[in-house]
Amino acid sequence: MLTLIYRRGIMRTEELLRELASRKLVVNRELVEEIVKRQDAPKLIPELIDELDEVSDGWFLIHSIFILSIMKTRESFEALKRIVKKYDLGDWITEDLHHLLANFGFEFFDDIAEIVKDRDYNPWVRYAAYRALFIINKEEGKGREKLVELSKQLFEIIDEGDEVEMDVVCFMLQYMASLHDEELYSIVLKFGKDMRCWGIVSLKDLEEIYEHGMEIEKRDPWQHFHPRNLLRLYKINYGNLKLDKYEPCICGSGRKFKYCCWEYWKEVRWSNL
Ligand SMILES: [Zn+2]
Repeated sequence: MLTLIYRRGIMRTEELLRELASRKLVVNRELVEEIVKRQDAPKLIPELIDELDEVSDGWFLIHSIFILSIMKTRESFEALKRIVKKYDLGDWITEDLHHLLANFGFEFFDDIAEIVKDRDYNPWVRYAAYRALFIINKEEGKGREKLVELSKQLFEIIDEGDEVEMDVVCFMLQYMASLHDEELYSIVLKFGKDMRCWGIVSLKDLEEIYEHGMEIEKRDPWQHFHPRNLLRLYKINYGNLKLDKYEPCICGSGRKFKYCCWEYWKEVRWSNL
């Protein structure tokens, strides 16, 4: 069984990463669990991405950002930063990146705030970092004052000529309103008006958020590696999975499909995605 091999730690981290890439989209959770234990993974992942991303049909990059978030170490944070700076993650930026950054927690609050202010990042990455801080604030009840301060700084750096995409700033206004800070809110309203944000966020919504706050959800990065999620992505990207129940499972667990991911595939197969 492959599982035993991972647990005994016989495979080097690089081999584990190559195994991960070779499985493409549907990967085995036990393999991921072993990789997140390896301290050299954050160093190796950025080095191997270009090569392994091709082998994995583009999934190595995606799996990597989830793995680095789960690890929650200084090294994994730096590796994640390198990756989001260098590669275009497409929809994963707006759908997932804020959750991935938020998972690092309050300890990384100031580091994430640096991303928000750093014009070397794609504006949508900066927006994801900004949203991450609100998730942390909600989860840990810390950082509100810092968020008010950062939000004011953002208007200053825009005044200094930072070309943050205006759409991004307009989206940020909702989060700013949720802080219920009178001074900040007056800047928000003025900016929204001057920059014609009302087509992107309505003034009425902002007032509502200022009064009642906003819903902010948190998502555990492990959810990405749940077979139900991976098989759902499989169906979206590749259509039907043609695999006999008695063949080895697509995830590489070493078990037969019937005794592994089959139950999730049954759910995903007929559902409307
Ligand atoms: Zn499986």
